[in-house]
Amino acid sequence: MTEGLTHDEWTAALRDGRLLGATCRDCGATVGAPTAACPHCGARSLELVDLPTRGAVYTETTIEVPPAGVEERGYQVAVVDLGDARVTGRLDDEAVAIGDDVVLAGFLEDDQGNPAPRFEAV
Ligand SMILES: [Zn+2]
Repeated sequence: MTEGLTHDEWTAALRDGRLLGATCRDCGATVGAPTAACPHCGARSLELVDLPTRGAVYTETTIEVPPAGVEERGYQVAVVDLGDARVTGRLDDEAVAIGDDVVLAGFLEDDQGNPAPRFEAV
């Protein structure tokens, strides 16, 4: 029995250059973010998996108005298809477009010290 993928596990792996996901034992869906239950079917039987660190940009946008407490502006955020999961991260390269291949290239910390995956063009 597992308690899902905790934020601490996910964060520790990211600092180590890995992306952790969780695959649902009931429906087979894979998520790429900390979760206690499958977002698709609600099952709590999840298996931790290492996600691929290279994938394709599913969508990307530039954040001009950041969430409260974040000073930085004009940064780029992408949702990247990594195997069966989608992971949200930061992009450094404004030339990266939807469909481009990117690879995990470390992480960035926000003002609260929470790391976010950083991707760059392959
Ligand atoms: Zn499920």
